[in-house]
Amino acid sequence: MLLIDGKATAQAIRTELKEEIRAIGAAASRPPQLTVILVGDDPASAVYVRNKERACAEVGIDSKTVRLSADTDAVTLDRLIADLNADAGVDGILLQLPLPRGLDSQACLACIAPDKDVDGFHPTNMGNLALGHAGFQPCTPAGVMELLRRYDLSPSGKHAVVVGRSNIVGRPLSLMLGQSGPFANATVTVCHSRTRDLPAVTRQADFLFAAIGRPRFITADMVREGAVVIDVGINRTETGLCGDCDFDGLKDKVAAMTPVPGGVGPMTIAMLLRNAVTAWKAHLGLGARA
Ligand code: NDP
Repeated sequence: MLLIDGKATAQAIRTELKEEIRAIGAAASRPPQLTVILVGDDPASAVYVRNKERACAEVGIDSKTVRLSADTDAVTLDRLIADLNADAGVDGILLQLPLPRGLDSQACLACIAPDKDVDGFHPTNMGNLALGHAGFQPCTPAGVMELLRRYDLSPSGKHAVVVGRSNIVGRPLSLMLGQSGPFANATVTVCHSRTRDLPAVTRQADFLFAAIGRPRFITADMVREGAVVIDVGINRTETGLCGDCDFDGLKDKVAAMTPVPGGVGPMTIAMLLRNAVTAWKAHLGLGARA
């Protein structure tokens, strides 16, 4: 079985981005700038934000985190986003989710200027993705597609089954897989909690993508021999982190698979950094828009 190493791939991308920023640096008036908004004191979000800050620093992206208390109201948050939208020194705005109860994340995300929406969650960017137009793409599914490209695992003409239809993973991933292009062009089936006889569907997959949020949910009897399996799940269990796939059960049956941790997870941050660099180049007139 080919182990798809997301950690090494993400590191390679970070090195490439660092080089790119350095190479452009002389022609640019400033480095890329990413502003993260963290509302409340969710400990997991604090860890994610720290990881993003560290990754930005490593590649040469200037990052700043605006911390707001959990009782921040929508008007204050919207005003902050409007100020950042208007600030020519800010390339990317990332609103860390989940927001505390009482704040509507969809409404807040829609306030972010689409050209600074490095998470790719704005309806305009989602619409562009659905239409097959250029735009920022959500980082986790973009990371999955990048892994396929870098490992030369083309789903073109193959049956891709995506289990999960969330707006941040399953749905955008299914759109990306179904687009035209050498590392897309798949025939896509999207499954969810109401799918009848899920194993019968997943067994048809040449490429199987698990984005469910249930530890080791995909078992060996649910996959076809020789399938490519991408496990997006990150589940905390008593024995540590695990994916949505039963890695040990699948490993002798599939052709290629991502581990958890060290698979899709590191790619998500790498794609965020790439989106921030793309925004920077567009804002400084140094490259194409996203
Ligand atoms: P959501 O909870 O938003 O979505 C889960 C999806 O799985 C839903 O579409 C749901 O169906 C479907 N589902 C749940 N139970 C079943 C079932 N029994 N059979 C079939 N489908 C089912 O999760 P996310 O998309 O946000 O995340 C999915 C996983 O990916 C999580 O483990 C999360 O931690 C991980 N993740 C990893 C990231 C990374 O960087 N690697 C980033 C983001 C998420 P329905 O729509 O019908 O409810």
